[in-house]
Amino acid sequence: MLTVLNPATEEPVAELEQAGVEEADAAVARARSAFPGWRAVSPSDRAHLLRRLAALVEEHREELAQIESRNVGKPISGARSEMGMVAQVFHFYAGAVDKHNGETIPVAGGIAATFREPLGVVGLIVPWNFPLNISSWKLGPALACGNTVVLKPAELTPLSALRLGELCLDAGFPEGVVNVLAGKGSVVGQRLIDHPDVGKIGFTGSTEVGRVVMQRSAATIKRVTLELGGKSANVVFADADLERAAASAPYAVFDNAGQDCCARSRILVEKTVYDRFLELLIEATRGVQVGDPASEETEMGPLISAAHKEKVASYVDGGRVAFRGDAPSSPGFWFPCTLVEATNDDRIAREEVFGPVAAVIPFADEADAIRIANDTPYGLSGSIWTRDGARFLRVARAIDAGVLSVNANTSVRVQTPFGGFKQSGFGRELGMHALDGYSEVKSVFISTEA
Ligand code: NAP
Ligand code: MG
Repeated sequence: MLTVLNPATEEPVAELEQAGVEEADAAVARARSAFPGWRAVSPSDRAHLLRRLAALVEEHREELAQIESRNVGKPISGARSEMGMVAQVFHFYAGAVDKHNGETIPVAGGIAATFREPLGVVGLIVPWNFPLNISSWKLGPALACGNTVVLKPAELTPLSALRLGELCLDAGFPEGVVNVLAGKGSVVGQRLIDHPDVGKIGFTGSTEVGRVVMQRSAATIKRVTLELGGKSANVVFADADLERAAASAPYAVFDNAGQDCCARSRILVEKTVYDRFLELLIEATRGVQVGDPASEETEMGPLISAAHKEKVASYVDGGRVAFRGDAPSSPGFWFPCTLVEATNDDRIAREEVFGPVAAVIPFADEADAIRIANDTPYGLSGSIWTRDGARFLRVARAIDAGVLSVNANTSVRVQTPFGGFKQSGFGRELGMHALDGYSEVKSVFISTEA
């Protein structure tokens, strides 16, 4: 039995049977038998089902937000907007089903045409930080392309995905098209990776487990997309609107209690304005509302688990703490917003903390900013704050990361590709790009000889 906890209270919210290898094999078998029927469903009928699912998510938005808030410790207002995005994702891919075209290519002796074919059964493995949101990023394009799926949510946060599985049936998806299994990564996750009938693994999680996914997938030459960790830079130049940059910076780290792969957890500040900016940043961080996730005003909740809290604390110990905010005491896995002055060589600047902790790092000039921003094994996201148009274009092109923003700290939009460079992984989610990861290109030659 698995006891699912509320990280804000440490009280159980559910007890579940865990799936094992046998259940994983049965789910793959169901998905495999549903595949021929599902790929034959006309694009407009597939789109219709995705639209119905989007409508059901909208209808159940409050219920889903409450589940997510209680299971992850997310502030309820944030959970509601995440559920809004889940519905938008299904709407987007409903619209994409019949716009994912092939090509005709003129060649000698005839023409060649390309077709986008589904991969078959795909295994989707997702983390605990944005359980339903990240599930939808994979489910939307996978289903739009005609694949059947087995979704494995994280062990700590299976509840919203299980409810979504029911909504898929209510929407009218045929039995076996969407399968959701609550189980351990080391058991169910590994079985999906090893299973010869699974054509692809769509994985979001840590770089460490991403490496295992890639290695084990080699045995069956499985396709993989990996959305992994990050250590993104928020680069603030002296000519930026410092007030705006400082007001936004805390939320770029402390949203979701810092448990966000896109967290701008390295705040790089030009030396000439460092002291002034740090003052503004501390003031803004003081304003982050930490507390009961059920309260409408709350902006930051607890961390996901006791073990994770201990790990986050280890990054702050011995550091030059510039600010430490307030947080409730236990029960609950609370950790305060923390700013640490650092250099880019410190452990806190090199490793993904995945908690509400930011390293503030000075830089000398543009070249130094680019050097520091890129001096990391990761390459997921980042921000550039400057009023100089040529500079933001130069710096945006020079930073090795998949998702950047200028004079803003947002990373995720339904319409735009999302994913990493370097050890932040490969493959893109969201937008039309995600469809490439859930289909194979087939080229067919048609002779026009008389
Ligand atoms: P994780 O430990 O890597 O787990 C992710 C998923 O993989 C979970 O479902 C987990 O199952 C499963 N898993 C664990 N070991 C496995 C194995 N040997 N074989 C197959 N599956 C396995 O990551 P996490 O701790 O949940 O999430 C935090 C990490 O995710 C951070 O590093 C963060 O940066 C990254 N992340 C990246 C993105 C992105 O889009 N780039 C988005 C969000 C999070 P169990 O829960 O049962 O162990
Ligand atoms: Mg983990």
